[in-house]
Amino acid sequence: MTHYPWASLVKPSKHYWSSSTLATRILSFHHCHMRSFGTKTEPFLSRPLKVYALACTFGWAEDADKLSEQTLDLDLSSPYYAEVLKSIDSTFLYKLFQLRWGIKAEVVDGIRLTADMSYDDCYGCKPNCTSSETPAEEEWECLELLIRGELDRCPDGSSLRQSKFWSQVGLARLWNLRCNECGERAVRKSSVKERSLWRLDEAEPFTKK
Ligand SMILES: [Zn+2]
Repeated sequence: MTHYPWASLVKPSKHYWSSSTLATRILSFHHCHMRSFGTKTEPFLSRPLKVYALACTFGWAEDADKLSEQTLDLDLSSPYYAEVLKSIDSTFLYKLFQLRWGIKAEVVDGIRLTADMSYDDCYGCKPNCTSSETPAEEEWECLELLIRGELDRCPDGSSLRQSKFWSQVGLARLWNLRCNECGERAVRKSSVKERSLWRLDEAEPFTKK
């Protein structure tokens, strides 16, 4: 198990502090340092994950739950986090990733519903056009893959909120799909973006805030 500098200071001891007091102290320490140093430099980027690992070590499930939400802007596929991840108990590790998978599933489900034309507002060409043809699947799969990739790297979905994600070259074919009947653009980019961000906001843990 990895040893953290402050771990020796907070060894569980019923004689001195209750576990809830310990939790409060560690969390205060964490918040204090987050404020002091910000999150710009790498040594401090991993701090939320280290504090999460510490809460897991002590078995503080409730604190671990809250702390896991603070790790959503970390790309855990980076080798930088490997050692901390290896130190986390498998049950807590599963929960950490379950949170991430849940967010991804919510947004991807929204994209599939959109592709299946469940959201009428995402489609439209000329107002009186009667076409009801299902648009090409490949283009929607491309969007789904790109979203999966973004949410793997950034489960907080922050990159999906940036217009450059929706304007990237890889999505040009989707936005340029034409209605077979009237020849106008069939997919409304702004509505697809809006729907996706709505699904993102609907995902745990964002609904709790
Ligand atoms: Zn049309």
